[in-house]
Amino acid sequence: MKIRAIRCDTLSTLLEMAKSQHPLEFVALLEAEDGILSGITLLPGTRLDESSASIITDMIPLGMTFSGSAHSHPNGVIYPSDADIGFFPRFGDCHLIIGYPYESGDWLAFSRDGSPRDLEVVE
Ligand SMILES: [Zn+2]
Repeated sequence: MKIRAIRCDTLSTLLEMAKSQHPLEFVALLEAEDGILSGITLLPGTRLDESSASIITDMIPLGMTFSGSAHSHPNGVIYPSDADIGFFPRFGDCHLIIGYPYESGDWLAFSRDGSPRDLEVVE
């Protein structure tokens, strides 16, 4: 499924989650309906260091598939790390990075290869 947008209430929930986890990083996996990201599965306590992608895989309930992910960068740098680029392809096509201070414009979307992409915000 091609992802074209995220629902605005889903996005604001992600921003709130990032804010409440600060200064820790938060990670969530996203589900989509009709090409619109609208479902959030939070994986508590996970971090995107080198070993984390496999830990996250172990925590995913069997049979669930995801269209993307969202995670925060408490240092405010909205750009994928090497570990992120290793993680992205395993969890769908559209990956949000949310940076400190987590206001409405403090996020960007990336493709599975880590290149920036457009993502519409819809009601
Ligand atoms: Zn990251």
